Amino acid sequence: MANVAPVNLDPALLDILACPNCRAALRADDDAAELVCTSCGFAYPVRDDIPVLLIDEARRPAATDPES
Ligand SMILES: [Zn+2]
Repeated sequence: MANVAPVNLDPALLDILACPNCRAALRADDDAAELVCTSCGFAYPVRDDIPVLLIDEARRPAATDPES
């Protein structure tokens, strides 16, 4: 019953949250303490167990940049 994960969210809560960018489901990344979109790859920070679902605060995926 370890309870040491940085992302301490109720799975039911994670179920109803959606990416504000594309409305896809999110998954918790315990190592980075982020919620990562399963579709567009944006990573949203979790601060004090509260997910910050703001596109302005999201970390963009570095690998998907077709312009460069
Ligand atoms: Zn998304």
